[in-house]
Amino acid sequence: MAKKFHQPIRMCIGCRNRYEQKLLVRLQCDEGLLKAFSSIGRSFYLCSDCLEDQKRITKALMRQCKSGDKEKITKRLKEIIPDDRKS
Ligand SMILES: [Zn+2]
Repeated sequence: MAKKFHQPIRMCIGCRNRYEQKLLVRLQCDEGLLKAFSSIGRSFYLCSDCLEDQKRITKALMRQCKSGDKEKITKRLKEIIPDDRKS
C-alpha cells in the first residue's frame, strides 16, 4: 500500500540538503544543455536558497551536465530562472 501522506523527498544538488520535492526546482541536462525538466530523462533538483546563489551551484551544474562550459551554464540558468530580485 502506498503511503498517502508521504511527501517525496529529493536532494538539492547545490547544498545536498533534502527537501520535499514540491519545494525544489527540477532541471535536467540534455546533450550538455541545461533546461527545465521535460518529463523525459535524467533530472536533478535545486532548492530556492541555491537558486539565489547561482555562483555556488554552477560547479554542481557543470558536474550534472558533464560540461566545462561555465558561461553557457550560467547563461542558461538565468534564462530558466530569471533573477528578478536584483535591484
Ligand atoms: Zn540547495
